Amino acid sequence: MTQPEPDELVFLPLGGSNEIGMNFNLYGFGPAHARKWIVVDLGVTFGDQTTPGVEIILPDPEFIEEHAKDILGIVLTHAHEDHIGAVAWLWPRLKAPLFATPFTAFLLREKLREADLLEAAAITEVPLNGTIRLGPFEITLITLTHSIPEPNGLAIRTPLGTVLHTGDWKIDPDPLTGAVTDEGAIRRLGDEGVLAMVCDSTNVFVDGEAGSESEVRATLDGLIPQLKGRVAAACFASNVARMDTIIRAAEANGRRVCLVGRSMIRMAAAAKSVGLLQGVRDFIPDSEAKHLPDAGVLYLCTGSQGEPRAALARVADGTHPHVKLGAGDACIFSSRVIPGNEVPIRNLQNKLADLGVRLYTERDHPGIHVSGHPCRDELKRMYQWARPQIAVPTHGERRHLLEHVALAKDLQVPQAIAPRNGDMVRLAPGMAMVVDEAPAGRLYVDAGVVTPENGDALFLEVKALMDEQLKGLL
Ligand SMILES: [Zn+2]
Ligand SMILES: [Zn+2]
Repeated sequence: MTQPEPDELVFLPLGGSNEIGMNFNLYGFGPAHARKWIVVDLGVTFGDQTTPGVEIILPDPEFIEEHAKDILGIVLTHAHEDHIGAVAWLWPRLKAPLFATPFTAFLLREKLREADLLEAAAITEVPLNGTIRLGPFEITLITLTHSIPEPNGLAIRTPLGTVLHTGDWKIDPDPLTGAVTDEGAIRRLGDEGVLAMVCDSTNVFVDGEAGSESEVRATLDGLIPQLKGRVAAACFASNVARMDTIIRAAEANGRRVCLVGRSMIRMAAAAKSVGLLQGVRDFIPDSEAKHLPDAGVLYLCTGSQGEPRAALARVADGTHPHVKLGAGDACIFSSRVIPGNEVPIRNLQNKLADLGVRLYTERDHPGIHVSGHPCRDELKRMYQWARPQIAVPTHGERRHLLEHVALAKDLQVPQAIAPRNGDMVRLAPGMAMVVDEAPAGRLYVDAGVVTPENGDALFLEVKALMDEQLKGLL
């Protein structure tokens, strides 16, 4: 008689390992031939100079699509695009139930509605600190802090051990929106025993701590009263704490706030739906704001990364129908330069400077922005709290993941393994190791058409036709 195949717990990243963006993580449980899966996050990445014409890049779900009937659920840790941006594109190929906390669920519903999937795709709204039971997986949300409301870590309990999947986080002692990092829950999980921690690596090269949203509030509270003329402020729309800071500083200085850009308006609605941005005045539409005196308005704009169609780019080009900036006005960039966006941001800032607009950026005004990801001191604290047996760095380029492995080893974590997209890492039983490889490509979205990386839609059509004809010959 042959031995039955043993149960295994595996981690399989299909996006987000060896890159920052496009997070798509899978956990599998069961014998190799009959695993049940959960998906954690399903995000996009954005095209850059290396992918001309391509705006959005998706992880290729080919591997898990073949096991779609064995996907028990898709759990979304938070609402950043690199974690939820691919849901509307790829859900039809996976068709599994979706789980998210209220703020994330609000934004997810918007995406599904736009894609005409709202009826088909079921979203289960999970409360903060709630628990989701999916077959062999029991998933409890742990409240963390980041740069968006409701960032959740996941304690994934299985019969072979518990994984702490951190998602994106930092330790902000005063995040302004939502609760502080639930240190107690992580310590208790550590007491209970953490088999593996799958953890954010974005800032592993940065010493110290990321800093708090409350420090940015102090900086902007000091800066905004000094500004004359019209003021524009650009930040990531999803950073509701930052939005809240800028809005309150504007109001305290007699400026009405005008939201410029679709995602700013959508995020404000999502924030209000979960009780954030309370007690602020109604926003003034851009068509009315232009009639206010210069010192009576602040424009809160999208486009801090130099995106060509975003609000700030149109203002800089002079093509925005209602918002004009010129000599004596000011523009605050309360954001960082995402690597890859240096050139478009520089072009945008040069255009604004040419109009006579004074610029305030992270470069010349420290404290105008803080990162949402953990620096080395925060990573060390997380390891001390969770005490995992295995460190699995993710959410980073190769160099970040390898540096994170070195840090984990310094911190006496018994095992550390830096996966590449497609590496199936067996976490238990036995030593953690890569036991299999799954295809993990990328899909390019060009003008709404999805093609494989380096693929050519026409070529694929011709090939499909030839395959059909060949079949006919056999
Ligand atoms: Zn992320
Ligand atoms: Zn994030």
